[in-house]
Amino acid sequence: MVYATHEVLNQPGALAGFNAYENDVALREAMAVFGGGWAEVRLVKTGALIGSARMAELARAANRHVPELRTHDRFGNRIDMVEFHPAWHELMGLLRGGQSHSLGWTAGRPGAQVARAGLAFLWGQGERGVGCPATMTFASIGALRHQPEILEKFRERILSPEYDPRPVPPGEKKTLGVAMAMTEKQGGSDLRQTQTVAVPAGAAGPGEKYLMTGHKWFFSVPTSDLFLTLARTGAGISCFLAQGWLDDGSRNRLLIQRLKEKCGNRSNASSEVEFRDLEGVMIGAEGAGIRTLLEMAHLTRLECALGSAALIRQAVVQAIHHASYRVAFQRALVDQPMMTNVLADLALESEGATWLAMRAAAALDASERDEGEKALNRILTPIAKYWVCRRAPAVAAEVLEVHGGNGFIEDHCIARLYREAPLNGVWEGAGNVICLDVMRAIGRAPESAVALRAEIARAKGMHPALDAALRALDGMLEAPGRFEANARRIVEHMALCVTASLLLRHAPGIVAEGFCASRLGADHGMALGTLPEGVSLRGIIDRAAVNG
Ligand SMILES: Cc1cc2nc3c(=O)[nH]c(=O)nc-3n(C[C@H](O)[C@H](O)[C@H](O)COP(=O)(O)OP(=O)(O)OC[C@H]3O[C@@H](n4cnc5c(N)ncnc54)[C@H](O)[C@@H]3O)c2cc1C
Repeated sequence: MVYATHEVLNQPGALAGFNAYENDVALREAMAVFGGGWAEVRLVKTGALIGSARMAELARAANRHVPELRTHDRFGNRIDMVEFHPAWHELMGLLRGGQSHSLGWTAGRPGAQVARAGLAFLWGQGERGVGCPATMTFASIGALRHQPEILEKFRERILSPEYDPRPVPPGEKKTLGVAMAMTEKQGGSDLRQTQTVAVPAGAAGPGEKYLMTGHKWFFSVPTSDLFLTLARTGAGISCFLAQGWLDDGSRNRLLIQRLKEKCGNRSNASSEVEFRDLEGVMIGAEGAGIRTLLEMAHLTRLECALGSAALIRQAVVQAIHHASYRVAFQRALVDQPMMTNVLADLALESEGATWLAMRAAAALDASERDEGEKALNRILTPIAKYWVCRRAPAVAAEVLEVHGGNGFIEDHCIARLYREAPLNGVWEGAGNVICLDVMRAIGRAPESAVALRAEIARAKGMHPALDAALRALDGMLEAPGRFEANARRIVEHMALCVTASLLLRHAPGIVAEGFCASRLGADHGMALGTLPEGVSLRGIIDRAAVNG
């Protein structure tokens, strides 16, 4: 090259063209242990897509060219549309085709929710903006079950593997996407403050048509075909399902005020809207809207745990790749003793998060067949959501630093991961709210704490640190008076105990030992990269690395 002033050296190339499933030993083992192994072919196919250069480019483009609000057409008619970059639509088509939004409901066999969780975990390493509509579509089944004839009307099309972004009524489509609009300005955690009001258009009650007036402060993917929302009726707060476009082809009466300018998740459109006589049908009992949404919220919380475990995995894989090829002071970074410790600690975090999130998915899967798993499902999902989402920002920040200055530059996916990392912790119940939910489970469904303890105790006697932690947990649970102020400590302790138990039973000894010594044995600093002596750092890194 005639104008070259220097040779570009020591810049590790992009990690692309690998299979994100085949190279993830922990994920493959979790699929086998929890009964999702039958979906291997589908998982391998999705893994190839997620690790491809095409996926990296689509994710980059969709986040670079953010959605734009179009309130009016060129003649001045109100249209309330959002224009997405073609990369978004391609991603949506690929995601739906892979059935990470639906397999858990359609496969009709044990392990269906585990296999679906595996797909969602892979997609969480591809592009996270499309994860939002996928999650809401998947979880909507939980709320629509409360109004069986409505579920029956839409179920097949909600779970269809096709994608159709046309702004037309549901009746003209073979496939439908579902969103949810709950959060208002005055409070998202405390939905009892909902101001939006609904009045019957004719007859009143479940399944009947209402007109809603009010606002929503956060409403992602406002171009969805259907969305669930909350509004106040005479009997209290009720749940409604609205169509984006009415049967006559007109836009349902919602006005998109603006799109949020977000710190992360930028490919996805999150809006502020007003409802002016928005049409919707009541779902579930009048006045029981928040209860109707509980199951949906539970499913979306599982999705947050899976999504953050995926983000952690993606970040750690990138860090190991970078450190393996970047040389400083005559040695690859991965071989610099302190960096070896950082990478091993990150890998432990990733493997722990993977097993914890997948165990929660397995409990959901078995919850309709097994009372113990049903009880565990109640408590383990919020525990996993709290803890894995809490760890993701710390991991992303550390991985950014592993990349040095490059990590801070938008060309590299790490900057995007860093901006994305806190989101799963905030939405679908922020950290404190989730810990309160765990406390509620202990109080109102004590069998859930019993099931959790039994799950941890499956590894009793396998490591002295776990045995001691289990005794400490028993002590915590005996002091209910101090529950609320200590809730984070208790939930964190529970998360670490279940993870340790899972690793002791299912992961190689070096991983379980490293986790127990540092996370339970307290032989660990406040920062990552402080694993104690004696931990097999290199072995842990090699297990997490992408090898081909
Ligand atoms: C990018 C993005 C997209 C979103 N998309 C949607 C969407 O599509 N639909 C939708 O409905 N919502 C959506 N949300 C909103 C999200 O669900 C809410 O932001 C979330 O539920 C928190 O509500 P809030 O913002 O009102 O915070 P608040 O409820 O005010 O909470 C603020 C803080 O107070 C804490 N807190 C609350 N109660 C207690 C308590 N009793 N004890 C201790 N601490 C407490 C919370 O943990 C939190 O840390 C989105 C948010 C974001 C960031």
